[in-house]
Amino acid sequence: MSTSLDSGWFTEVFDSQGSAFSLKVTGKLHDVQSDYQHLEVYATETFGNLMVLDGCVMLTDRDNFLYHEMIAHPALFTHADPKRVVIIGGGDCGTLREVLRHPGVERVTQIDIDEEVTRAAERFFPALTESNDDPRAELAFIDGVRWVDEAEAESVDVLIIDSTDPVGPAEGLFTTDFLRRCHRLLRSGGVMVQQSESPLYHSGSIIHSLRRDMREAGFDSVATLPFPQPVYPSGWWSVTLAGKGREVNDFREQDAREAGLPLDYYTADIHRGALALPPFMRRALD
Ligand code: SAM
Repeated sequence: MSTSLDSGWFTEVFDSQGSAFSLKVTGKLHDVQSDYQHLEVYATETFGNLMVLDGCVMLTDRDNFLYHEMIAHPALFTHADPKRVVIIGGGDCGTLREVLRHPGVERVTQIDIDEEVTRAAERFFPALTESNDDPRAELAFIDGVRWVDEAEAESVDVLIIDSTDPVGPAEGLFTTDFLRRCHRLLRSGGVMVQQSESPLYHSGSIIHSLRRDMREAGFDSVATLPFPQPVYPSGWWSVTLAGKGREVNDFREQDAREAGLPLDYYTADIHRGALALPPFMRRALD
């Protein structure tokens, strides 16, 4: 992966795939080197503000709803009655906002290693942080691997891993050992969900090994749900769910239909459709 900023265009190059994605930018709004990563925010001509971490596109105003709705709602509508939710990563707070839309959720803790991400989101993506004052929400800024290590066993209903790619600070969030600790953290019937990269580029590699490692870590079922994400490599992304004593290829469809959440992508039908894997993915994942 490499980046360039030529004549007003931000470009993220995916060297390993011989492909790239560009956005026309109208200015740089923020540039900070935190203890963990290089964080930039740009204004773009057609996608609103753009957040970049270590040269990788994280989110834009225009299309972040796809990712945030799909990492939150399938997991929450798969669990029978989610009350206690933990988000590892997710510093832009978009996932937190989606989780808090569920009235049955009593407490959500978001643990991001890098406070700079949340401070930048507050300034440049205020819509994503609009629920941060909800009394059910709690924000902590430490390494998610350490937090999961030290947390009480069987204390969480839904665990969401909303991380950067499996390099740099997020590398430890993609190991079998970490998944074992996640399994330990969940109550019986618990659901874990992890962002799992591109179906087109990573089905035979990252997604395949994540699903295998989830099973090895003790999870009883896994499901990978693809969804469109124009600004990520290949324009297509995925989340992978894992259940502890629970089937994750089924969900509370009627509840999802009747919830009346004010969403832009997720519906019960989208969820059902995303569970139907295309043949090339099924072959790569089996
Ligand atoms: N939507 C993005 C994507 O798929 O590329 C991911 C969202 S971004 C907000 C991911 C967050 O994970 C970043 O804020 C980063 O600081 C955080 N992160 C990376 N490694 C972490 C770790 N070990 N513990 C906690 N948070 C971590």
